[in-house]
Amino acid sequence: MSVQVVAAKMAEVELKDVPTGKDLPAGSPMTPTSEGKSLGRNDPHEAGSTVAASPTAEPSKAGEGSLGLLNTNPAKMPQASALKRTDPQLNGGEAFINRDGTVAEAPRMKKIQFADQKQEFTKRPSKIGRRSLSRSISQSSTDSYSSAASYTDSSDDETSPRDKQQKNSKGNGDFCIKNIKQADFGRREIEIAEQEMPALMALRKRAQGEKPLAGAKVVGCTHITAQTAVLMETLSALGAQCRWAACNIYSTQNEVAAALAEGGFSVFAWKGESEDDFWWCIDRCVNVEGWQPNMILDDGGDLTHWIYKKYPNMFKKIKGIVEESVTGVHRLYQLSKAGKLCVPAMNVNDSVTKQKFDNLYCCRESILDGLKRTTDVMFGGKQVVVCGYGEVGKGCCAALKAMGSIVYVTEIDPICALQACMDGFRLVKLNEVIRQVDIVITCTGNKNVVVREYLDRMKNGCIVCNMGHSNTEIDVASLRTPELTWERVRSQVDHVIWPDGKRIVLLAEGRLLNLSCSTVPTFVLSITATTQALALIELYNAPEGRYKQDVYLLPKKMDEYVASLHLPTFDAHLTELSDEQAKYLGLNKNGPFKPNYYRY
Ligand code: NAD
Repeated sequence: MSVQVVAAKMAEVELKDVPTGKDLPAGSPMTPTSEGKSLGRNDPHEAGSTVAASPTAEPSKAGEGSLGLLNTNPAKMPQASALKRTDPQLNGGEAFINRDGTVAEAPRMKKIQFADQKQEFTKRPSKIGRRSLSRSISQSSTDSYSSAASYTDSSDDETSPRDKQQKNSKGNGDFCIKNIKQADFGRREIEIAEQEMPALMALRKRAQGEKPLAGAKVVGCTHITAQTAVLMETLSALGAQCRWAACNIYSTQNEVAAALAEGGFSVFAWKGESEDDFWWCIDRCVNVEGWQPNMILDDGGDLTHWIYKKYPNMFKKIKGIVEESVTGVHRLYQLSKAGKLCVPAMNVNDSVTKQKFDNLYCCRESILDGLKRTTDVMFGGKQVVVCGYGEVGKGCCAALKAMGSIVYVTEIDPICALQACMDGFRLVKLNEVIRQVDIVITCTGNKNVVVREYLDRMKNGCIVCNMGHSNTEIDVASLRTPELTWERVRSQVDHVIWPDGKRIVLLAEGRLLNLSCSTVPTFVLSITATTQALALIELYNAPEGRYKQDVYLLPKKMDEYVASLHLPTFDAHLTELSDEQAKYLGLNKNGPFKPNYYRY
């Protein structure tokens, strides 16, 4: 499949003035231009910079050559002191444990069935819990992240939010959430998230007086969490109107939804929606009198799918789709291939920064958290085997090594294998160490990496978990045999017991450990949210013809910009190329700094 990638030429775009934001330079992404309010004024098609590329391709060299100025001069960036760091005590540990002491349920593992034929929502289950989710084709639940954890869930109140009449303090009732009274609590959550989302806060500052999203009507379907709230409030500060539904029936932080509703956002979401509720909420976002969306921000493709099925005419006014998840992006490419994509779409999932942060850094941070919360295991001196030394495996290995574990690696690819060796890990075959290891972690993206034969040979107490692909890496089905006893010892923790008394500790039934049993760092989500915001600005402001009805990646320049907006948090001082050096390397002093094929 060929994908057109536009190198949006931003020669006149000055991505400057991050800190003060008062006097935005003409042509900055926050500055409407005379040709509309374009982020970049040059049409890449004019320069012939549209190229056929793979789904992960990036802007062409030709287009990059004339990209705009990106001033990352640290002197002009917000200083670290201005951006308070989150106290881990506030945002971690028990904060994400349910009231009953169990860890937050996996927010992403249940799947939603597309309801192509549904148009009415009258025959709905009266209580949450009656769901028929098994025939799902919607996989947003496994493709994207949420730091969801709700502290205010009340199991006593089983009244469906659809049966409640609620209004915020200003008398506005255009929302449907669990309980508006939780708004203050949600506001505190949002404020905590703001501290770890410096780039969005910087965009808001830049927007003072400038509204690059003025007139934008964004309909969104993402996890409704404190981090999403920071994104929504940023979009609003940039001039957009937003209506939002949840992309996952479990991940909504009810108190955050309440804070958003109190702040005037039309939010339709609560934790524990039924399948029927799920589609009803999406419908309430789009099917409203006097308001029609002109931008879509989707995570999983369900919202896009719904509009395609129910309100195809809406696409006449829609300027673009921004999609975050693997599944949603895959669907967009399918639509594009079939010639059915009728608006431009941005593939945020394959941005360099998102990939790098989601896979390497996110896993480096969350592997220990997931293991610790479920098992209280001590890592020092433990023997661990990590299957796969790609981005995820590298993150896991680094974290465990730092804790004093003895780490073995298995690989099929000699390059990654050599990397593991050079990083000081023992490269082994799984059968060589399976009897002695205390922890087995799969990170391959492959299937049946840990099969019954290995599970039979593990020692008593061995912990088995997956950080890789969905639930295919460990052959969990092979453990469902009559001679083995399963004991649920904690939420997401099963002991599987052999007839001789040996037990292995299986985490999250082989699904993704970190998404099921820990949280994802807000800073990682900040990168994605910033990319989403920039993609919306770009699509909304692009002059006619810059983007065709196809799927695009954000230009590398924008990835670099997303990264640069996060640097001040660390009081990082970026070196600037001298004229002589830039000439020597053949680079624009303001980037992009790497060719598209660079692998970081
Ligand atoms: P990657 O391709 O960089 O790494 C996977 C590695 O596994 C490769 O080096 C490959 O050679 C190796 N491999 C494949 N089959 C193997 C086998 N049978 N035995 C040993 N090694 C084998 O991919 P990645 O970015 O590291 O992602 C891995 C998986 O993790 C993907 O499925 C991805 O979707 C998922 N992922 C999970 C998270 C998370 O938060 N848990 C985040 C990002 C990605």
